[in-house]
This record gives sequence, C-alpha cells and structure tokens, in this order.
Amino acid sequence: MTTQIMGVSDVSLRLAKQYILAGDVVAFHSETVYGLGADARSDSAVRHIFELKGRPQNNPLIVHVHRDFDISTLVDSIPPYARALAKAFLPGPLTMVYPSTGKVSALVSCGLNTLAVRVPSSETAQAFLRAVDIPIAAPSANVSKHISPVTAQHVFEDFEGRIPLILDGGRCEGGIESTVLDCTGEEPLILRAGLVTREMIASVAGSCGVYVPRKGEQPRSPGMAYKHYAPKCRTAFFAPEELEQAKSLYREEEERGGVPCFFCEDALARTLEGFRVLDLGSSGEEMANRLYELLHRGEEEATLLIGVCPEERGGVYEGVLNRLTRAFGG
Ligand code: AMP
Ligand code: MG
Repeated sequence: MTTQIMGVSDVSLRLAKQYILAGDVVAFHSETVYGLGADARSDSAVRHIFELKGRPQNNPLIVHVHRDFDISTLVDSIPPYARALAKAFLPGPLTMVYPSTGKVSALVSCGLNTLAVRVPSSETAQAFLRAVDIPIAAPSANVSKHISPVTAQHVFEDFEGRIPLILDGGRCEGGIESTVLDCTGEEPLILRAGLVTREMIASVAGSCGVYVPRKGEQPRSPGMAYKHYAPKCRTAFFAPEELEQAKSLYREEEERGGVPCFFCEDALARTLEGFRVLDLGSSGEEMANRLYELLHRGEEEATLLIGVCPEERGGVYEGVLNRLTRAFGG
C-alpha cells in the first residue's frame, strides 16, 4: 500500500470518504495532534485502529464529529454545565465523556458504558468529518507509546505503507492531546489535562475537579495508566534543583562518545551555555506547541535526552508536565 499525503481538496475528501466507508483508516490533521480515524460504528474498522497502533485493548478511543453533528444520537444525560462548556470551548481541544447510547461499536470505549466525544476546530478535521458525516473513532496517529505526531511527516514515519491517506493540514498548533473531561458527575472532572485548562473550565462550570486514581483502583481514564509519548533514545529527568547532577550526566554521556541534549524551558536553556539544548520556550502554550516536535527532533539528534522539569504549575503547564513526565518516564 502506498501512503499518500494530501492537503484538503475535493479529490482528497472524496478519497478519504471512500476509504472510511470501506472500513479503512485515514490520518487527519487536528488542532491538537494528528489523528488516526476510522468508522466508529464498525467493529472491524475500530479493531483495525488498535492493530495498526499496537494499542492495548483497554485503552478507549475518542469519537470525533463535525460541528453540526447531533451528538444526542451518541450520548445522553448531558448536564447543563456540559452544555455551557460546549458553548464556550467547542469546536476546540476539549473531549467530553458522557453516558453512551451504544450507537457506536462497543470496541470504541473498550466495554465502558461511557463515550468520549470531541469536536475539533481544525479546518482540515472539520472538512474531513463533514465529508464522511459519520462518527469517527480516532486516537493519536502514532504507534502506541511513541511520541504523538504534530506533522504529516511524523505520521508517515510511523505508518508508511500501512495506511492509504494522510490529510495534511500543516503543523498542529496546539501540540498536545485534548483535555479529557468526565461529564457524568455533578461537577466536571479532568481525566487528562490539556489546552482547555482547569481554570478555564471552572470559570464556566463554577467548579472543576481533577481525577487522581487511588492506589489499586482501575483508572477512570485507562490511557493514563501507560508510559507514553516516549522517544526512541535514552532519557533522564531531573527536578530544577538537581541541575548539577543533570550536568554531570551530560558530561558522562559526552565522555562515552554519546550525544547528550538538554530538554527544558527557555529560562533555564539560556543559562546552559556550551551545552546542547532543545528549548521548550516560556509559556505553557508555547511549551505545548513545541513539546512533541522537539521530542521528535531529540530522538533523531541525541543519544540521551536530559529533561529538566519546568518550575511553574497550573494552567496549560499541567498538561505539559503530564506529557513530559510520561515521555521521560517520571
Ligand atoms: P488518545 O486517543 O491517545 O488521545 O487517548 C484517548 C484517551 O481518552 C484514552 O487514553 C482515555 O484515557 C481517554 N478516554 C477515551 N474514552 C474514554 C471514556 N469513555 N472514558 C474515560 N476516558 C476515555
Ligand atoms: Mg495517544
């Protein structure tokens, strides 16, 4: 199979629709990361996604729909706070989890009685979802546990010859996966941090919890149990106060003939004269935007990536920290 990379056009959308209705998988740009989409109503199409990614069978998928899709066919018991949040933040990088009506394949939610729904704002994603006009199950378009893709080229590197089409919308601006928000309770509960922050959600819904799995408990957002987003090179991770240890490790790696590289925020990067550094930038948004792009670059250029944890907390930093700690293995 040859993998075509095409921008949005009448031709590419017609092809995408043909592939999807035939049960095949099509990758598409979104404002967060690239997605690997298939017909959410079809068991075999959904199974195909899991096989392509090598994704664990208990890690559920998010269903994507266009902005005019009637989601009351897919989910019910939408609470008033969720309607307010949808009005404020959709289309956009916010996934909302509701009780499922069971209209999509049970494989999408891995047997859970809930369904995660997202309305992406990317014009490429919207054009694709409108063209097919069915719910599309889509995880990030990377091989399971590898770094999430923020360019069509990243998708191509993971899936060349295994999927027919990548709908190219350029580099993903958001840079990290959507916020996943459980909307089945009295107040919204963040299952995965992202660009729509706890503070933003609380300002609309009045309050917002953050889910922390208790020891031994089956996590409410199964995907969060996995080491994830990992580059292929070796990694190490340090707190800001451990900088001297990090520098020693850097020098050791160099002495062994390796290529070490720091991976940290701009304020620290500017003090690391004479060291190789991938600079994540300053704000939470900037770090999210650069994170996966720089991890991809890091695994190509370095033998050892040395991450140093940013100092700030709250806002988009929460999502960035979650990805960083999981990419660097804690
Ligand atoms: P990804 O497709 O890699 O962006 O991962 C999607 C994530 O959404 C999963 O890893 C889950 O953590 C979360 N998710 C999807 N469906 C549900 C659901 N029904 N309930 C809770 N979390 C979900
Ligand atoms: Mg993923």
